Amino acid sequence: MLRNFADTAALQSVDAAHHVHSFADPKALAAKGTRIITQGKGCYVWDNEGNRLLDGMAGLWCVAVGYGRSELSDIAARQMNELAYYNNHFGTSTPQMIELAEKIAALTPEGLDHILFANSGSEANDTIVRLVRRYWMLSGKPTKQTFIGRDLGYHGSTLCAVGLGGMAHMHGMAPEMLPGFAHIMHPHHYLLGDGLTREEFGLKAARALEEKILELGPDNVAAFIGEPLQGAGGVIDPPATYWPEIQRICRQYDILLVADEVICGFGRTGEWFGSQYYNIQPDLMPMAKGLSSGYLPIAAIAVGNRVFDVLNEGGLLAHGFTYSGHPVACAVASANIDIIANEGLVERVREDVGPYFHQSLRQLADAHPLVGEVRGVGLVAALQLVRAKTPKALFSAEEQASIHCREVLWDKGLIARAVGQAMVLSPPLVITHAEIDEMVGKLKLGLDATA
Ligand code: PLP
Repeated sequence: MLRNFADTAALQSVDAAHHVHSFADPKALAAKGTRIITQGKGCYVWDNEGNRLLDGMAGLWCVAVGYGRSELSDIAARQMNELAYYNNHFGTSTPQMIELAEKIAALTPEGLDHILFANSGSEANDTIVRLVRRYWMLSGKPTKQTFIGRDLGYHGSTLCAVGLGGMAHMHGMAPEMLPGFAHIMHPHHYLLGDGLTREEFGLKAARALEEKILELGPDNVAAFIGEPLQGAGGVIDPPATYWPEIQRICRQYDILLVADEVICGFGRTGEWFGSQYYNIQPDLMPMAKGLSSGYLPIAAIAVGNRVFDVLNEGGLLAHGFTYSGHPVACAVASANIDIIANEGLVERVREDVGPYFHQSLRQLADAHPLVGEVRGVGLVAALQLVRAKTPKALFSAEEQASIHCREVLWDKGLIARAVGQAMVLSPPLVITHAEIDEMVGKLKLGLDATA
């Protein structure tokens, strides 16, 4: 039994003996020792030794309303006492599922009015693979089965979600990927722009989709999936020309468009959904993370009328999870959406803290020799670390500049993520100007120690 949170060495040794971590090399972690987080309030978390850390990542991009919101824990306790569990299989609902489905449908872009629940972004994306393949079967086009995703896209860790994603190190975990998934280039102008303007490059990157569709044959392609802004791939914000061209191509070849809103959804971009920020009209939209601010696991898929109408005629929907639409998670998500709406957090990101965040990061980047580019929108950003700005000289992966910087930042009390050779930030939407100042001050110290 764990008794003493202050005894770091004892906790680390039990952790190494019994706990298998996600996205970590077990041996390297056991040698270094896990970090143990015990409390959270607002934009801060505390470790077991009482050190306070500014959480520049909102957990895993999810704690939109900040830590320690008693409105959410009170609702969870009340709901557990009233009805701790019921499901939506075989024709039952709970008021919490109904209310949340209605609330999400009111926020999504027009025509995405039908909501399915799941428990994680990965499950939502797996569900989408099943729904889309069934849609094409029912539509009399059974050969349209292949999904096209993007390099460095991230859509989760289940087998289908890994296939949708374009993370080479995840594909390499097993000797063979599931069939039926193809990938195109990502729209990372700074790394791949090669002398083209952002606008020219956006068109080039989008047209890779057209080339892939023609290579596979339009009759074999079911859907294209993309995050409006690629998050885990390194905050790849597409040029303005990118999404309109993707949309055109999907329409021309009759390919469904899936906008993965797991990171972008619920205010991160300064709109409720990234699709609204980039003016995308998707056929399906998976969402999770900000939906409950991470207080409980829940995900949802907004299904557009075109797909829903066909599925609706197709008879039994043989799909669902024991915990789909869990009443406690639904009640918490619903209250979380109310907080985001009542506190005007989306507008706050768009008009106040988002612009302040980017302006502060740009000032830091302009003055610092190690930052080649700041990119992102709203409250998500990446600082590309470079050996030299002009002419551009990138760090190699072996140099581990971003990992070094991340470790220094932890010690200085700031949690940031290292992706490739970039530092990624995605703080809670409730972050204040003073906390942004603190973040930027700490970042400077981290960069100085990395230079
Ligand atoms: N889609 C996107 C865009 C994500 O960023 C993630 C997780 O980071 C997922 C899907 C997978 O979500 P989960 O980890 O809840 O399965």
